[in-house]
Amino acid sequence: MKYEDENIPFDKCIKILGWNSSRFDIALLWDALDYKLWTMGVPIGSLNNTKSITVTHKKSHMKLQFIDAENLFGPMTLKACVKDYGDQSEHKDVFPYEIINSKNWNEVLMKTEPFEYEDCKSQLKGGYSITREEYDQYLIDFKRFTNRLDYLKYYNISETEIMVKPLMNLIDTSEQFNIDIYYEDFDINADYSDPNPNAKPFELTTGYWKNKCYRYKQQDYNGGRETEKNVTADDYDYYKRLFETSVCSICNAKFSYDNPPSLDRQDNELPHTKDNCLPACVSCNIAHANKDPKMTSLHIKMRQYAIKHNLPMTLSDERIYKLLRECITGGLAAVFHRENIAGKTHINELTYDEQSNKVISQDNENVVTHVFALDGNSLYPSSYSSVKNENIPYIDHRMYMAGRSRFYSEKPYVIKNCIDQRKEIFVAKVNGYFPKSEYNNLLPLPPIFKNIEIENKEDVIGEYMYSQAQKHSLPMTKKDRKLTTLADTNGQYMLFNNNYLWLLIDLGFIITDYKAIAVFEKNAAYEPFVRTMMNLRIQAILAGSTKEKFYKLIINASYGYDTLNTEKFGKIKMLDKADTFIAQHHPNHIGTRRISANTFAVQINPKTATCFTSIQSGVFTLDNAKYQQAGEIGAVHGKSQIPRDNLIIRGFVRYEVEKNLLKPGIIWVNDDELMGCQKRGIILMFGG
Ligand SMILES: [Zn+2]
Repeated sequence: MKYEDENIPFDKCIKILGWNSSRFDIALLWDALDYKLWTMGVPIGSLNNTKSITVTHKKSHMKLQFIDAENLFGPMTLKACVKDYGDQSEHKDVFPYEIINSKNWNEVLMKTEPFEYEDCKSQLKGGYSITREEYDQYLIDFKRFTNRLDYLKYYNISETEIMVKPLMNLIDTSEQFNIDIYYEDFDINADYSDPNPNAKPFELTTGYWKNKCYRYKQQDYNGGRETEKNVTADDYDYYKRLFETSVCSICNAKFSYDNPPSLDRQDNELPHTKDNCLPACVSCNIAHANKDPKMTSLHIKMRQYAIKHNLPMTLSDERIYKLLRECITGGLAAVFHRENIAGKTHINELTYDEQSNKVISQDNENVVTHVFALDGNSLYPSSYSSVKNENIPYIDHRMYMAGRSRFYSEKPYVIKNCIDQRKEIFVAKVNGYFPKSEYNNLLPLPPIFKNIEIENKEDVIGEYMYSQAQKHSLPMTKKDRKLTTLADTNGQYMLFNNNYLWLLIDLGFIITDYKAIAVFEKNAAYEPFVRTMMNLRIQAILAGSTKEKFYKLIINASYGYDTLNTEKFGKIKMLDKADTFIAQHHPNHIGTRRISANTFAVQINPKTATCFTSIQSGVFTLDNAKYQQAGEIGAVHGKSQIPRDNLIIRGFVRYEVEKNLLKPGIIWVNDDELMGCQKRGIILMFGG
């Protein structure tokens, strides 16, 4: 291999792609990869479904990464991949694998006549594995070979070669989109100073200055520097004026409360004296510590760019982090079970009777004809794209994403003001409920989706369930944490982001207590990216191309896909016999596979996961998704509309709202209208 500049260190890693190899082929590799010249790295995936294994050569340090091509192209067949990513003129060759086995291969392959079409019948797939046209093409191709074995040799090479064109195209396509979503327009030569012109100018207080002087002295003392001539509290007037009239000596920014000043020592051997120091932003001062001036400049400019565009930045207030952390809970999925048989099951309705404080379940006279799934998840681009949508009634008709934090408060009037004014984006921790008069609107799907602890008590799970559980001696003392739908906050403080909370309030939610709020800057940084990708994806769908899956993969990968992946996968460690013995007795142990006499691959349940999505982006995406789903129910209530990617469906539901045909959770439609919906339903819909 030849590289432009061999002196620049780089990772020599060669990817070896296998089609659908994670479940099958890699299993065979496992045994072969433990070899004296190669060190086997930690595989990604599980023991039964290995996404990738990397081995490093002990002398050249060359890396080989065995990886399932599905990770690059998305789930599809090789045939579809060649068609959509490759040269349209190329055709995939065929070979009836199932006809040969370890006993008959010699006899079968030595025959000089081509396979019969009947040989292409597949036990695995059911029916023929190839079409008549493909078989006819095979007959033409076969004429070039003396026997079946020769054809097979050609076939094996051709099978590998047809991957080349799609791969080259994939590399080109990826290159085109090899962008950081946030820093797409970033230019290292541009001037990003004073990114926030509205920031309040910094005013030095005596207390702040005194504290600074004390800490500088402490720093110099610890660094073994003479502190006698250091700046002191007496220099207050001088520095107050200096910070007001001068700018950062490194980046030329004005000082503000967002960007406080500090003293940057010019000669690092000398202490914090008047002569040795120039004013600089705290962030520049830190970046300046990096010896490489180009890296310093890059760090400073990226920070200014992030401020200018309200991008998420590291949280410096621990209280905000703790507030956001509460929102991140595992297993946020709920499945509702109900058996509906078309033409047979009657539509069921729930009604709340305030007098008796009971919910009555009743079948009405209408019979189910169709069932459409109610589907909400945070991977829909609309939950993080901030695309303008007239159906979102809040700030600028957009669901903005959270940037850097602005402030945190526990003062009830501050929290209430932020919620009522509907101008800022935030997460708020509140306690509240829906009045009983609203129950009949909310019963089909109560709009508060939260994880709560559920006890197996008779008054919680009901008499019937309780007696059933006892009858079958199920454990009754265990508490379960479950995602559920509620009509109040269950007597606890719960966190909601601005969109979700406003929707609940518009549906009748009453807040009783205010606990805390964290307010953020707004950004719509994902919009251009999502727009580009969605357009490409729609074009691919219209052209009937499986490239659509590639765009979907990129869109999904842009948000939190990394966490999903690493959290779901077990962690695999390579251990020796003694360590394997210990690991197998740990409760985290999932499985073990022997690699060689003294090497074992041990799969354990990971305790930690790495995530490259900022926590505020994560929380906002999750809650925006809930807003979206609850908003759909809102649409049924006729009070709110649905922000959705699919225009056809939204138009359809709106039409139903206008015709006043909606009942909670049930839409009355005839067949023609349902068919116009292209099988992608959003609300439980049953025809009468
Ligand atoms: Zn600066």
